[in-house]
Amino acid sequence: MSTVQILPAVSDYLKKTHGQLINGESYANASNTTIDVINPATEAVIAHVYSASDEEVDQAVSAARHCFDTKWKSTLPYQRAQLMNKFADLIETNGEEIAQLETLCSGKQINASRMFEIQQAASFLRYYAGWATKISGETLTPSFPSMAGEQYTAFTRREPIGVVAGIIPWNFPVMIAIWKLGAALAVGCTVVLKPSEFTPLSLLRVVELAKEAGFPDGTINLVQGRGDVGEKLIRHPHVAKVSFTGSVPTGLKVGKTAMESNLTRCTLELGGKNAAALLDDADIDKAVMGLFMTGYIHQGQVCAAPERIYVPRSRLEELTTKLAAQLDKAGIGSPLDDSLMFGPISNGPQYQKVCRFLETAASESRILHGGHPLPGDGYFVEPTIVEAASNSETLMQAETFGPIITFMPYDDESELVELMNDTPFGLSASLWTNDLSRAMRLVPQIEAGTVWVNMHTLVDPSVPFGGAKCSGIGREFGSAFIDDYTNLKSVMLCY
Ligand code: NDP
Repeated sequence: MSTVQILPAVSDYLKKTHGQLINGESYANASNTTIDVINPATEAVIAHVYSASDEEVDQAVSAARHCFDTKWKSTLPYQRAQLMNKFADLIETNGEEIAQLETLCSGKQINASRMFEIQQAASFLRYYAGWATKISGETLTPSFPSMAGEQYTAFTRREPIGVVAGIIPWNFPVMIAIWKLGAALAVGCTVVLKPSEFTPLSLLRVVELAKEAGFPDGTINLVQGRGDVGEKLIRHPHVAKVSFTGSVPTGLKVGKTAMESNLTRCTLELGGKNAAALLDDADIDKAVMGLFMTGYIHQGQVCAAPERIYVPRSRLEELTTKLAAQLDKAGIGSPLDDSLMFGPISNGPQYQKVCRFLETAASESRILHGGHPLPGDGYFVEPTIVEAASNSETLMQAETFGPIITFMPYDDESELVELMNDTPFGLSASLWTNDLSRAMRLVPQIEAGTVWVNMHTLVDPSVPFGGAKCSGIGREFGSAFIDDYTNLKSVMLCY
């Protein structure tokens, strides 16, 4: 056991009063509602934050709008990139403090906090910084003939859309916020972020670093609160775009609210019930390690994680037995112990939800490994393997967002695509085979935003990511984000 020592800066930060960050200043208005921050490993209240009032939401959007109009949209692309790179440096310099805050609030294993919320967040930010100097339009030749010898030419401009409201889920509060921030800042938009009530502190600490990085006040603002604060933010008339990541039911509400208030543009990165399919030639050991690493990391609370796996009947037992042996080897306990693989579920409501899925799995399907909450304090559950006999079982249809993978045997490969597509979701899928021709023939038939071959859940900033079907609207990464964060203006000239 090797438990990391909590830094004095982290202990001090938890004792402080926290609230909003607006126009470069921190506000904690004592007359507002407070939200308890609970450590999911101990169930102890470790901090409080003040939720934003209506006036504070308005002030945050107004500050972002003022900064957009007077400073950020006219800041040169090269300067934007420099500030974003400096911001990434500061996230890394303060990385251990941010990672510890994250682990204490979300139960994310400390190494995962360091890897995703610090290293990956900084890398994504630097990737987007590279785009700041590469946003361009097109020159076009109009096609209609001239009436009286005049000539025409045309070009398009990509103009920043304005104030972006970024609504962030609790599973990766820094990394997902950086996806939105990176895209917005690169094109010249300003931002108001709302983290989840369950994970308010790691992102707040990151946003505090924006001033030190040299961003003009008001470029990045943050308001705390529950869904009602998110809704007020979306309804604000000066919010030009909503970038939401979260569950499908909330995404539907967010999309509707955005449409109702000024047809505000909206991208939705939502949940999934991601399928993985092993073909009969698959390398079982490789698949076991792949599923172990991607299906259970952060207790399965990863939007793209594989949750339902189709396996040739003759190979199911070998696969699940080997996977169970891997799970037995990985320890579960304090997320601050960097020798362990598994920590707690991130918050009480999610823990209750996962426990209900375990009960459903026991009654409707067959539990092959794990299947129980752990006794004592903290929201711990055993990493679990389930076997289903039919695609209609709850565990094959509902997103558990927990450390539960459900396996279903298949006999006939011709039905595989139908089984994989038999879901309202379409975030991601994977194929496991050594036969590239078979993989390439299957890829176009799978209804998902991303299909991986011989891997799962690897997101890269240069590869677009987002959902098909009910898993969302819009794409992050690559150049795909530019459409969503800019207005396309056409200019025609007659001469
Ligand atoms: P939720 O949908 O519950 O919440 C997401 C965010 O929306 C939170 O900040 C939440 O605040 C806020 N919110 C809740 N209600 C409203 C509302 N009416 N208007 C505006 N904002 C609102 O998702 P979770 O936080 O539980 O995250 C888990 C979900 O996110 C899973 O389904 C997962 O698959 C999905 N996800 C998708 C990803 C993707 O890229 N496709 C990536 C990561 C997660 P509060 O928490 O305070 O209620």
